[in-house]
Amino acid sequence: MTRWGMVVDLGRCVGCQTCTIACKMENGLPPGTLWRTVLDVESGEFPDVRRQFFPLTCMHCADPPCYDACPTTATKVRGDGIVWIDDDICIGCGSCVVACPYRARHLVPLERYYFSEATPPELATYNLDRVGICTKCHFCYHKFDAAPSDARPGEDPEYTPSCASSCIADVIRFGDLDDPDSTVARMVAQHTGAARMLEHLGTQPSVYHLNAPRIDPRPPERQHTWHGLAVANFLCGPTGVGLYLLAVLTGWLSGPSAPLLDLANPLASLAGWSPDAFAPRQWAGLLGPALVALGLLSVAAEAGRPFRGVNVFRNLRRSWMSRESGFAMLFMALAVLDTLLWESPPVQAVAALAGLGLVLAQGLILSKAKGVPAWSVPIMPLYFITSALAFGYGALLVLVSLHADLGLQVWTWAALGIALAAVDLLVWRRYLATPPRTDTFRHSVALLKQPPWRLGIEGVGHALPAGLLAAAALLPAIALPLLAAAGLCLLAGGALARIALILKAAYLVDLFDGFGMTPAQDLAPARVQPQPATQAA
Ligand code: SF4
Repeated sequence: MTRWGMVVDLGRCVGCQTCTIACKMENGLPPGTLWRTVLDVESGEFPDVRRQFFPLTCMHCADPPCYDACPTTATKVRGDGIVWIDDDICIGCGSCVVACPYRARHLVPLERYYFSEATPPELATYNLDRVGICTKCHFCYHKFDAAPSDARPGEDPEYTPSCASSCIADVIRFGDLDDPDSTVARMVAQHTGAARMLEHLGTQPSVYHLNAPRIDPRPPERQHTWHGLAVANFLCGPTGVGLYLLAVLTGWLSGPSAPLLDLANPLASLAGWSPDAFAPRQWAGLLGPALVALGLLSVAAEAGRPFRGVNVFRNLRRSWMSRESGFAMLFMALAVLDTLLWESPPVQAVAALAGLGLVLAQGLILSKAKGVPAWSVPIMPLYFITSALAFGYGALLVLVSLHADLGLQVWTWAALGIALAAVDLLVWRRYLATPPRTDTFRHSVALLKQPPWRLGIEGVGHALPAGLLAAAALLPAIALPLLAAAGLCLLAGGALARIALILKAAYLVDLFDGFGMTPAQDLAPARVQPQPATQAA
């Protein structure tokens, strides 16, 4: 079985970037997109300072997190280990970009050229199919897929990835890691210091590095793949689900409500519709799904190819983003139909479960994103559930206050709200107390503990609403405005928490975490072991 891989001898690299340019030329990459680059890294302290050049590309992992994250099945893994992207399927959602810890994936948002007009070489190689989607290195497989049977990829330049064939210092070697006679397999087997990056993440890269130096932790860098529209999705979805779920629950406690549409006489009931006639439970039955829909629309607006959006359901077997979309559809359909037609507790229970599935899926999308340590923690799905209930309760409090129809005793609303805020705060604190395995995570937590964020998330989002709810229970005469204020605080704190988590504290994993100190063989058995000559034959 063939397994293509690379061995990069860091001791030989002179930082000339020839491989970077060769890759750009070979693959017609637009401005701002580098499938391969050479980092220029300084380590140590004066006077003991080292400068290291570090060629970097997709690692073609044997267990690639990008593959599971991709909701469309656009990311594929070939039998020979090459991870590639089907340009016709990708929607450019970016979930693989944050899942990859090696910063190997690049969204190409727009058609762009180096000058005001495309130059002849750009016209010859520019691939418009790649605009709006995610792109990355594919080991130039087009160079050796159609090669004659006696061609030797890795040895013959014309059948070798352009970075390797162009390297002036023979730094990058390409070949079959599963062939013990190949140069790369022998280099890995014979070099006791052959190391793979971020080995502890379990991705099993197919790129080995020789002569890897110890590199100091570098300043943290924020993720720049997901922006405000992603925040909107991670806020609106859970808020909508929480609103619906708690409206159903409090509706069950306060008594049944009627469906909005009388099936026996639908036209008459349609004609008689008026917003004033809606109970808070019915408002929540429509607003909850509307918020979830708004979140999905935000994702679609952030994706580079939104008109291929239906592809998001293709990977229900592996991708939590696919499952999020599936749960969202089920939740919206059941919640809306039930509110309009049935008001049936069993349907509401199923809708609530689908909603919880959506929230859980969002938490798992983040906890599986190996590129962002602040997200990839086991408590993230639980935090998404508790925060969904807190945010949704905030929306419900505003709704019942505006409607002046509490349905339940004020103290019941207050007690439930205080309990939800307390549980959410507890889980948030547990998240902040996660033992930091890396400096990057430590940086994230340090930011979240800074006064402005702590005051906003824990003060405005938890302590203040709890105080307002307690005051509402004690002062029934002014309960409605106090409940509304508590609801708005829960929502404001929730928005701040999501902005902080998705945008501000979302530092990328340090590429050199644990690198250059321990040979790969000591961390995990190298995939390629030298075989006796008789077996190899
Ligand atoms: Fe996927 Fe990143 Fe691994 Fe490449 S390096 S296979 S893009 S996870």
